[in-house]
Amino acid sequence: MSDVATFSTFDPATGQLCHTYPITSDEEVAQSIARASQAAIWWANLSFRKRRAILLKWNALLISRLAEAADLIVAESGKPRSDAELEVAIACEHVAWAARNASFYLRPHHRFPGLLMANMSAHVDRVPFGVVGVIGPWNYPMFTPIGSIAYALAAGNAVIFKPSEFTPGIGIWLAETLTEIVPEHHLLQIVTGAGNVGAALINHGVDKVSFTGSTATAKKVATACVERMIPFLLECGGKDPVLIDSDADLHRAAEHALWSGMANAGQSCIGAERVYVHHDVAERFLEILKERAHEIKAGVNYGAATRPAQIEIITRHVDDALKYGQQVVGDQNSVGERFVEPVIITNVPEDAPSMREETFGPVLLVNSVRDMKEAIAKANDTPFGLAASVWSRRNGEQIASQLHCGMVSINSVFTFAAMGSMPFGGVKDSGMGRIHGPEGLLEFTYPRSVVKPRFHLPLEFTSFKRTLFADKIITTLSRIKHK
Ligand code: NAD
Repeated sequence: MSDVATFSTFDPATGQLCHTYPITSDEEVAQSIARASQAAIWWANLSFRKRRAILLKWNALLISRLAEAADLIVAESGKPRSDAELEVAIACEHVAWAARNASFYLRPHHRFPGLLMANMSAHVDRVPFGVVGVIGPWNYPMFTPIGSIAYALAAGNAVIFKPSEFTPGIGIWLAETLTEIVPEHHLLQIVTGAGNVGAALINHGVDKVSFTGSTATAKKVATACVERMIPFLLECGGKDPVLIDSDADLHRAAEHALWSGMANAGQSCIGAERVYVHHDVAERFLEILKERAHEIKAGVNYGAATRPAQIEIITRHVDDALKYGQQVVGDQNSVGERFVEPVIITNVPEDAPSMREETFGPVLLVNSVRDMKEAIAKANDTPFGLAASVWSRRNGEQIASQLHCGMVSINSVFTFAAMGSMPFGGVKDSGMGRIHGPEGLLEFTYPRSVVKPRFHLPLEFTSFKRTLFADKIITTLSRIKHK
């Protein structure tokens, strides 16, 4: 009998056994890093053009097997098939963007050397870190990690991915497909298991960590990285607000706020959890929202809660919100053993735990506000700062400019996540650093400053032969320049 330790995944809709995987041992994690370090040297020495060709070939393979990828996502996450297909399509968009744009954003940049160093040439290289450890969540098991994996690869790194223990299938598939394109190099490897396997990646010294998950785990990851001076990027949770002004298109606002809050069973880091609506239109907005919410159903429009433990948090938050607020749609009975029907509650106090903590379920808390100034203050009064959505015909930009968060959608929700060019990430408890876009490429490299004399001056500043005359030149030029 094999003595390899294993863990299993289960179909979130039925609880039936889905798949059993090995738990990667500490020693195997170390071996993966050693292999990745070799691959990283080969990969970093390829031209941008060659890396782009390989990544685009991989992307063509991914999209040609979209159905296979969607099957794997559905099986372990429990989301509807059409959502899984959309997830694969958007993930491929990011692979293509990163592959096509790395050469432009990561090219060497010439810098002006300044008056005192006018004889020098100066430029900045962007250097890949080497081996990037990607630690991922379960809610978008392909889209979320690909935002790190594709950008890290395009920037010239090798990657080791530790998928969530709830959804490893798609991660393993990603590595297998890249191995089909580049069989001789370990460009993307997978290690599987729970948090201790992620911790082992850090302990054994990857060169950069890209973590997506809860704020509580992010703090542990950050502490472990700081101990070893490993740079890190953290993509964490949110309590995203929707702000609705009196001049908003209420039908569109209600439709999209509902989708943002309930799609994927409310398990979206950038999903709406709080709504602040101008009191002039609050009643009408709630009517429309209620009407729309009655048209959607768990098990049809979205799937089961992926992680059984999430049900406890949703139950606690619904109880808490109903204790202080008023029921609009659903109640405690909406929270089933696996599926949660839509819940909308109004007038919940701002300091209630359900208003402050991430729920990660199909629950929207809607409060009316005097004006957008109050909405902005309340939207910002949270430990989180991931994304927000603003609805106004005239004041969208002005409201957006006052929100303390990493991403704002005006008269829309979520769409920035599907744009390769737009950075993705948060502030405060929602994390630090960015995936996607030029910022996401830069994140997986460090700047190396390179200088060289174009010609030699008779004045030597960096030598013990420096003369009093040279000193005088420096101080005189400095005085002229900075007076
Ligand atoms: P989690 O924090 O429980 O786990 C995330 C990953 O970290 C998993 O792979 C887990 O095995 C690993 N892990 C756990 N302990 C670890 C440790 N000590 N060291 C290293 N790795 C460890 O989060 P989750 O429940 O998988 O994901 C849901 C959370 O992710 C939500 O808060 C959600 O908002 C957030 N999220 C954020 C984004 C974003 O981009 N900002 C995207 C998706 C999800």
